Amino acid sequence: MAELHNDIGHGINTYPPNKGVPGMAEFEFNNAVGKETKRLLKGKVNTFEAQPFDGRDIALITRTNQYNARWAKDKTSIGISNHANANGKKDVRGFGVFYWHTSPEAKKLAEIILDEYKKEFPGYPIWGTGLFPSVPNTWTNFHMCRETKGVFVLVEWEFMTNPDALKLLKSNDYRKRCALVNAKSVCRWYGIKWSEDKNPSQPAPKPITPNQKPAQAQPKPSGAYTGGSIVDYLNSIGVDSSAANRRKLAKEYGVSNYDLSATKNLELLNKMRNGKTATKPASKPAASPKPAAKKQTVHLPASAKTWRTYKLNVQPVKKNSDWSLTPSAFGGLTYDILGNPYSNVVTIMTGRGKRNIYVGPETGAVIK
Ligand SMILES: [Zn+2]
Repeated sequence: MAELHNDIGHGINTYPPNKGVPGMAEFEFNNAVGKETKRLLKGKVNTFEAQPFDGRDIALITRTNQYNARWAKDKTSIGISNHANANGKKDVRGFGVFYWHTSPEAKKLAEIILDEYKKEFPGYPIWGTGLFPSVPNTWTNFHMCRETKGVFVLVEWEFMTNPDALKLLKSNDYRKRCALVNAKSVCRWYGIKWSEDKNPSQPAPKPITPNQKPAQAQPKPSGAYTGGSIVDYLNSIGVDSSAANRRKLAKEYGVSNYDLSATKNLELLNKMRNGKTATKPASKPAASPKPAAKKQTVHLPASAKTWRTYKLNVQPVKKNSDWSLTPSAFGGLTYDILGNPYSNVVTIMTGRGKRNIYVGPETGAVIK
């Protein structure tokens, strides 16, 4: 079986001191992407990790010696080292791949990964051209590209030092979809047909209680976002914006031959906005949150490391939380209260659309 050298960049003990930013260790992101990449490739491509998941940092030279030993036995094996980037300037962001400057094969692999990234994340920022030759005696002279004998690239998935990109890097959705980009790229490299159905990246929604029907993620034709990106629109209404879910929505809204292209994305966006009835009967939308009596804000204190959020269509209980805010990383966070659907639960607008959060008196949240 073909083999991927699935490198997660750094060990668990690298932040502190330096591989990370307040709010996220780079390791957390790399580790999650590496694990999901392995899961997605199961049965298709073997993976080998010289830097073990969840493990302490292994010296780069030890790692490349192991990757080279594996390569000597199977010269078709390839490698990807996963990273999150950092820059002194907060506004620098985007996706980029490094390949050794004298290796046309590594450049080809880098181009495939960039192409798959653009397909999965249309319109997301790319750092420069997204492709960087790794050259001796320059800042791009990376050990992983230089010392590996086989085809090996280093991916910087986004910048931890940009606040918007950091939100992405911290989200499970982005991590899973980065792994999907890896898995699709590796399969494309080896000419293995990628089948999404056998590799669901999203678990099927589970009923909240045995007696209750599962809440259908049937988007409502509303949302504060008014721009032209389907991904941003879905995020603004709290609906999964993955390629898989967009394919599903395209079927429901009667967008024929949906291929993730800009044209088809726009067609889907317009149909959803106009509230065109889905071909499948929509389940009853959850009761809309009652508007707050007057305009109030909620402040989540800087002392809170994480704060669970809940999609509007689930009960706001711990097991239903799929994403957390990180007040401490921002010196505290303040939001307008958009609704008050349950006692001690308020609705706010987050980077992932409208969400409910629990703000009971013991939590330290301040409502004004
Ligand atoms: Zn790194």
